[in-house]
Amino acid sequence: MRNKIAAGNWKMHNTLAESISLAKQIALVKIPEDTKVILGVPYVFIRDVQDAVRGSQVLVAAQNCHEKLTGAFTGEVSASMLSSMGVEYVILGHSERREYYAESDALLAEKTNIALSQGIKVIFCCGESLPVRESSQHVAFVKKQLENGLFHVSADQMDKIIIAYEPIWAIGTGVTASKEQAQEMHQEIRTMLAQKYGQSLADKTAILYGGSVKPDNAKELFAQPDVDGGLVGGASLKAADFTAIIQA
Ligand code: PEP
Repeated sequence: MRNKIAAGNWKMHNTLAESISLAKQIALVKIPEDTKVILGVPYVFIRDVQDAVRGSQVLVAAQNCHEKLTGAFTGEVSASMLSSMGVEYVILGHSERREYYAESDALLAEKTNIALSQGIKVIFCCGESLPVRESSQHVAFVKKQLENGLFHVSADQMDKIIIAYEPIWAIGTGVTASKEQAQEMHQEIRTMLAQKYGQSLADKTAILYGGSVKPDNAKELFAQPDVDGGLVGGASLKAADFTAIIQA
Protein backbone atom coordinates (compact mmCIF):
# COMPACT_ATOMS: atom_id res chain seq x y z
CA MET A 1 0.00 0.00 0.00
CA ARG A 2 1.23 3.47 -0.86
CA ASN A 3 1.13 6.19 1.77
CA LYS A 4 -0.66 9.45 1.11
CA ILE A 5 1.43 12.58 0.74
CA ALA A 6 0.40 16.19 1.29
CA ALA A 7 3.14 18.42 -0.07
CA GLY A 8 2.95 22.20 0.09
CA ASN A 9 4.70 24.48 -2.36
CA TRP A 10 5.09 27.88 -0.74
CA LYS A 11 6.71 29.39 -3.86
CA MET A 12 7.95 32.96 -3.31
CA HIS A 13 5.47 33.92 -0.62
CA ASN A 14 5.60 35.09 2.98
CA THR A 15 8.16 36.70 5.26
CA LEU A 16 10.44 34.86 7.66
CA ALA A 17 8.07 35.43 10.60
CA GLU A 18 5.06 34.28 8.56
CA SER A 19 6.92 31.19 7.39
CA ILE A 20 7.93 30.20 10.91
CA SER A 21 4.42 30.77 12.19
CA LEU A 22 2.88 28.70 9.36
CA ALA A 23 5.40 25.89 9.85
CA LYS A 24 4.70 25.80 13.60
CA GLN A 25 0.97 25.55 12.98
CA ILE A 26 1.47 22.69 10.51
CA ALA A 27 3.81 20.93 12.94
CA LEU A 28 0.95 20.79 15.45
CA VAL A 29 -1.48 19.12 13.05
CA LYS A 30 -2.54 15.59 13.85
CA ILE A 31 -1.21 13.80 10.79
CA PRO A 32 -2.98 10.56 9.82
CA GLU A 33 -0.70 7.56 10.26
CA ASP A 34 -0.56 6.75 6.56
CA THR A 35 0.21 10.33 5.51
CA LYS A 36 3.47 12.13 4.89
CA VAL A 37 3.61 15.94 5.03
CA ILE A 38 6.26 17.89 3.13
CA LEU A 39 6.70 21.67 3.00
CA GLY A 40 8.37 23.19 -0.07
CA VAL A 41 10.08 26.21 1.40
CA PRO A 42 12.08 29.12 -0.09
CA TYR A 43 15.82 28.46 0.32
CA VAL A 44 16.33 31.35 2.73
CA PHE A 45 13.79 30.05 5.22
CA ILE A 46 14.72 26.37 5.13
CA ARG A 47 16.79 26.35 8.31
CA ASP A 48 14.18 28.27 10.29
CA VAL A 49 11.38 26.05 9.05
CA GLN A 50 13.42 22.94 9.90
CA ASP A 51 13.76 24.33 13.44
CA ALA A 52 10.06 25.16 13.59
CA VAL A 53 8.96 21.62 12.64
CA ARG A 54 11.66 19.75 14.60
CA GLY A 55 10.17 16.89 16.60
CA SER A 56 7.11 16.66 14.33
CA GLN A 57 6.63 14.39 11.31
CA VAL A 58 6.76 17.32 8.91
CA LEU A 59 9.51 17.12 6.27
CA VAL A 60 11.11 19.99 4.39
CA ALA A 61 11.72 20.33 0.66
CA ALA A 62 13.59 22.89 -1.39
CA GLN A 63 11.83 24.25 -4.47
CA ASN A 64 14.81 23.91 -6.81
CA CYS A 65 18.51 23.15 -6.96
CA HIS A 66 21.33 23.85 -9.40
CA GLU A 67 22.44 21.14 -11.81
CA LYS A 68 26.11 21.37 -10.78
CA LEU A 69 27.54 20.43 -7.41
CA THR A 70 29.69 23.48 -6.85
CA GLY A 71 31.28 26.34 -8.76
CA ALA A 72 31.08 29.95 -9.83
CA PHE A 73 27.31 30.26 -10.18
CA THR A 74 26.44 33.46 -8.38
CA GLY A 75 23.10 33.35 -6.61
CA GLU A 76 22.58 29.61 -7.08
CA VAL A 77 22.13 26.83 -4.53
CA SER A 78 23.47 23.31 -4.97
CA ALA A 79 22.05 19.96 -3.96
CA SER A 80 25.15 19.39 -1.81
CA MET A 81 24.38 22.57 0.14
CA LEU A 82 20.81 21.39 0.67
CA SER A 83 21.99 17.96 1.66
CA SER A 84 24.44 19.45 4.16
CA MET A 85 21.42 21.13 5.80
CA GLY A 86 19.52 17.87 6.05
CA VAL A 87 16.97 18.77 3.38
CA GLU A 88 15.22 15.56 2.36
CA TYR A 89 13.32 16.55 -0.78
CA VAL A 90 13.57 18.91 -3.71
CA ILE A 91 10.79 19.91 -6.09
CA LEU A 92 12.05 19.79 -9.70
CA GLY A 93 10.38 20.55 -13.00
CA HIS A 94 7.62 22.76 -11.69
CA SER A 95 5.83 24.36 -14.66
CA GLU A 96 6.76 27.83 -13.40
CA ARG A 97 10.43 26.93 -13.58
CA ARG A 98 9.99 25.27 -16.95
CA GLU A 99 8.23 28.37 -18.28
CA TYR A 100 9.94 31.36 -16.59
CA TYR A 101 13.45 29.91 -16.35
CA ALA A 102 13.37 27.83 -19.52
CA GLU A 103 14.14 24.61 -17.67
CA SER A 104 14.23 21.88 -20.29
CA ASP A 105 13.76 18.16 -19.84
CA ALA A 106 17.51 17.71 -20.37
CA LEU A 107 18.34 20.21 -17.61
CA LEU A 108 15.82 18.57 -15.30
CA ALA A 109 17.45 15.22 -15.95
CA GLU A 110 20.75 16.73 -14.77
CA LYS A 111 19.14 18.30 -11.71
CA THR A 112 17.47 15.01 -10.85
CA ASN A 113 20.80 13.19 -11.08
CA ILE A 114 22.62 15.69 -8.90
CA ALA A 115 19.87 15.74 -6.26
CA LEU A 116 19.78 11.94 -6.06
CA SER A 117 23.58 11.80 -5.92
CA GLN A 118 23.38 13.93 -2.75
CA GLY A 119 20.76 11.72 -1.14
CA ILE A 120 17.91 14.14 -1.78
CA LYS A 121 14.60 12.69 -2.92
CA VAL A 122 12.92 14.36 -5.87
CA ILE A 123 9.35 15.50 -6.34
CA PHE A 124 9.35 15.55 -10.14
CA CYS A 125 6.61 17.68 -11.71
CA CYS A 126 5.04 17.16 -15.10
CA GLY A 127 1.87 18.39 -16.77
CA GLU A 128 0.42 19.83 -19.93
CA SER A 129 -0.86 23.25 -20.96
CA LEU A 130 -4.47 23.90 -21.94
CA PRO A 131 -3.86 23.80 -25.72
CA VAL A 132 -2.14 20.43 -25.33
CA ARG A 133 -5.07 19.11 -23.29
CA GLU A 134 -7.58 20.50 -25.76
CA SER A 135 -5.84 18.75 -28.61
CA SER A 136 -5.98 15.48 -26.63
CA GLN A 137 -2.18 15.22 -26.62
CA HIS A 138 -1.88 15.37 -22.82
CA VAL A 139 -0.88 11.77 -22.24
CA ALA A 140 1.75 11.79 -25.00
CA PHE A 141 3.06 15.16 -23.76
CA VAL A 142 3.50 14.00 -20.16
CA LYS A 143 5.05 10.74 -21.39
CA LYS A 144 7.68 12.75 -23.24
CA GLN A 145 8.41 14.90 -20.19
CA LEU A 146 8.92 11.79 -18.08
CA GLU A 147 10.92 9.90 -20.69
CA ASN A 148 13.23 12.85 -21.32
CA GLY A 149 13.57 14.21 -17.80
CA LEU A 150 13.17 11.28 -15.44
CA PHE A 151 13.08 7.81 -16.91
CA HIS A 152 16.85 7.63 -17.31
CA VAL A 153 17.14 6.92 -13.55
CA SER A 154 17.69 3.39 -12.35
CA ALA A 155 14.99 1.36 -10.61
CA ASP A 156 16.81 1.86 -7.30
CA GLN A 157 16.76 5.60 -7.84
CA MET A 158 13.11 5.61 -8.87
CA ASP A 159 12.43 4.50 -5.33
CA LYS A 160 13.49 8.02 -4.28
CA ILE A 161 11.14 9.80 -6.66
CA ILE A 162 7.66 11.17 -6.18
CA ILE A 163 5.91 12.20 -9.38
CA ALA A 164 3.59 15.21 -9.30
CA TYR A 165 1.13 15.55 -12.15
CA GLU A 166 0.23 19.22 -12.38
CA PRO A 167 -1.81 20.30 -15.40
CA ILE A 168 -0.71 23.88 -16.03
CA TRP A 169 -4.26 25.02 -16.71
CA ALA A 170 -5.17 24.06 -13.15
CA ILE A 171 -2.26 25.71 -11.33
CA GLY A 172 -3.29 28.81 -9.42
CA THR A 173 -6.36 29.19 -11.63
CA GLY A 174 -9.04 27.84 -9.33
CA VAL A 175 -9.86 25.32 -12.07
CA THR A 176 -9.20 21.82 -10.81
CA ALA A 177 -8.92 18.73 -12.95
CA SER A 178 -11.98 16.58 -12.40
CA LYS A 179 -11.42 13.43 -10.41
CA GLU A 180 -11.81 11.49 -13.67
CA GLN A 181 -9.21 13.62 -15.48
CA ALA A 182 -6.78 13.24 -12.59
CA GLN A 183 -7.33 9.49 -12.31
CA GLU A 184 -6.95 9.00 -16.07
CA MET A 185 -3.55 10.69 -16.18
CA HIS A 186 -2.31 9.11 -12.95
CA GLN A 187 -3.23 5.68 -14.26
CA GLU A 188 -1.45 6.44 -17.53
CA ILE A 189 1.66 7.54 -15.60
CA ARG A 190 1.55 4.36 -13.54
CA THR A 191 1.33 2.34 -16.74
CA MET A 192 4.36 4.22 -18.12
CA LEU A 193 6.22 3.38 -14.90
CA ALA A 194 5.21 -0.28 -15.17
CA GLN A 195 6.38 -0.47 -18.78
CA LYS A 196 9.74 1.05 -17.90
CA TYR A 197 10.41 -0.33 -14.40
CA GLY A 198 7.97 -3.18 -13.85
CA GLN A 199 4.64 -3.36 -12.08
CA SER A 200 5.90 -3.66 -8.51
CA LEU A 201 7.91 -0.45 -8.71
CA ALA A 202 5.00 1.26 -10.46
CA ASP A 203 2.72 0.16 -7.64
CA LYS A 204 5.12 1.61 -5.05
CA THR A 205 5.67 5.01 -6.68
CA ALA A 206 3.67 7.92 -5.30
CA ILE A 207 1.93 10.09 -7.91
CA LEU A 208 0.58 13.38 -6.57
CA TYR A 209 -1.97 15.63 -8.18
CA GLY A 210 -1.40 19.40 -8.21
CA GLY A 211 -3.58 22.20 -9.47
CA SER A 212 -5.98 24.19 -7.32
CA VAL A 213 -6.28 21.52 -4.64
CA LYS A 214 -8.50 22.92 -1.90
CA PRO A 215 -10.10 21.52 1.24
CA ASP A 216 -13.37 21.02 -0.60
CA ASN A 217 -11.96 18.97 -3.51
CA ALA A 218 -9.03 17.17 -1.85
CA LYS A 219 -11.04 14.25 -0.53
CA GLU A 220 -12.53 13.21 -3.86
CA LEU A 221 -9.25 13.69 -5.72
CA PHE A 222 -7.24 11.73 -3.14
CA ALA A 223 -9.86 8.97 -3.14
CA GLN A 224 -8.95 8.07 -6.73
CA PRO A 225 -7.05 4.77 -6.84
CA ASP A 226 -3.94 6.21 -8.51
CA VAL A 227 -3.90 9.61 -6.79
CA ASP A 228 -1.59 9.40 -3.79
CA GLY A 229 -2.04 12.89 -2.46
CA GLY A 230 -1.37 16.41 -3.62
CA LEU A 231 1.21 19.05 -4.36
CA VAL A 232 -0.55 22.15 -3.12
CA GLY A 233 0.30 25.77 -3.88
CA GLY A 234 -2.08 28.49 -2.72
CA ALA A 235 -3.94 26.42 -0.14
CA SER A 236 -0.67 25.38 1.54
CA LEU A 237 -0.17 28.99 2.62
CA LYS A 238 -3.23 28.91 4.85
CA ALA A 239 -2.76 26.73 7.92
CA ALA A 240 -6.45 25.86 8.18
CA ASP A 241 -6.75 24.90 4.50
CA PHE A 242 -3.57 22.85 4.43
CA THR A 243 -4.58 21.14 7.67
CA ALA A 244 -7.87 20.12 6.08
CA ILE A 245 -6.02 18.84 3.01
CA ILE A 246 -3.60 16.82 5.18
CA GLN A 247 -6.56 15.25 6.92
CA ALA A 248 -8.37 14.53 3.65
C1 PEP B 1 1.58 24.41 -7.63
O1 PEP B 1 2.06 25.47 -7.96
O2 PEP B 1 2.30 23.42 -7.48
C2 PEP B 1 0.14 24.36 -7.42
C3 PEP B 1 -0.44 23.21 -7.53
O3 PEP B 1 -0.50 25.56 -7.16
P1 PEP B 1 -2.04 25.76 -6.77
O4 PEP B 1 -2.38 24.71 -5.75
O5 PEP B 1 -2.11 27.13 -6.20
O6 PEP B 1 -2.82 25.58 -8.02
